[in-house]
Amino acid sequence: MTTILITGTNRGIGLELAKQALAKGWTVYGSARSEVTDPDAHICEHPKFHDLVFDVTDYEAVRAAASSISEPIDILINNAGIIGPDRQSTLDMDFDGFAQTIAVNTLAPLAVSQAFLPHLRRSAAPRILTISSSMGSLSYAKSDRIAYRASKAAVNKVMQGLATDLEPIGIAVAMLHPGWVRTDMGGAEADIDAGTSANGILKIAEGLTLKRTGRFFNWDGSSAAW
Ligand code: NDP
Repeated sequence: MTTILITGTNRGIGLELAKQALAKGWTVYGSARSEVTDPDAHICEHPKFHDLVFDVTDYEAVRAAASSISEPIDILINNAGIIGPDRQSTLDMDFDGFAQTIAVNTLAPLAVSQAFLPHLRRSAAPRILTISSSMGSLSYAKSDRIAYRASKAAVNKVMQGLATDLEPIGIAVAMLHPGWVRTDMGGAEADIDAGTSANGILKIAEGLTLKRTGRFFNWDGSSAAW
């Protein structure tokens, strides 16, 4: 039976990932900055849902959460993320906001991956998936939301390195663009709903093996541009 840990399960794509993983009969560890209470889904009352409370940038809290779990984890999805500060152009940057964006979107996925590595090592088919964004692609010379773009470009590099380092011990790592998704972050005009995105992400998670490690995918399974 599959056990999955997803960060940021109180809303958006993370909540949908948790709901759909529970529907598959998986055991779900879902993290949020405060206790998860979703009145629609009742995931917090589901017997296979386990709440973990930590801010992904609080490494001590992340390590404490990891210490509180003894069972193996098969799939880790680094989902929690922020869009960054209001002022984030190269000509007018909120540098504290930029640093916070890097802390949440780039550093935290690595910190969470490191903290839960012992649990992943005990799985028969361990996988780490990090939700990145096509906005981090170096193939497009766009300059809006540069803090967010830089944080996602950087997390791709970090996760590519992690994939190389974990391949010898059998842990597969992939990066994902979830689509332009109707969430608080994506807005009401986005292309797809969170359920469609989560469905695609879980399919990729289920099919991820060492043969596909280190790759950057779109939510529909196609290759994303670096
Ligand atoms: P939302 O804004 O709807 O949700 C973001 C989630 O991240 C929330 O659960 C939030 O928790 C959590 N989070 C943010 N900061 C922290 C933190 N410091 N510690 C713990 N949790 C935190 O975003 P989406 O669901 O749309 O996005 C999910 C992922 O997908 C992100 O990584 C995002 O960059 C990526 N993405 C989204 C796209 C879209 O179109 N929506 C497009 C491309 C990528 P809280 O409620 O406490 O703030």
